[in-house]
Amino acid sequence: MTGKNNSKSEPVMRFQGLMGAIVTVGVTDTGEYGVWYWHCNGCIDSHDDTNMDRLRDSANEHAATCRALPPEHAAA
Ligand SMILES: [Zn+2]
Repeated sequence: MTGKNNSKSEPVMRFQGLMGAIVTVGVTDTGEYGVWYWHCNGCIDSHDDTNMDRLRDSANEHAATCRALPPEHAAA
């Protein structure tokens, strides 16, 4: 639908980890074939799932256990 957009979509929600890293949840497509994903900017872990509820729970669980610091001084 969005044509030239080949990057992932806007974040839908965020969870904050124990030390401040952010777990961002997004979806590649809101339609039937959308894939939900989360990405942690602290430990660079990520996960995806076609089920939004399951993915959200996974993101929340990661945020509840991840002790990574936020990348305040990351080069990029
Ligand atoms: Zn993490």
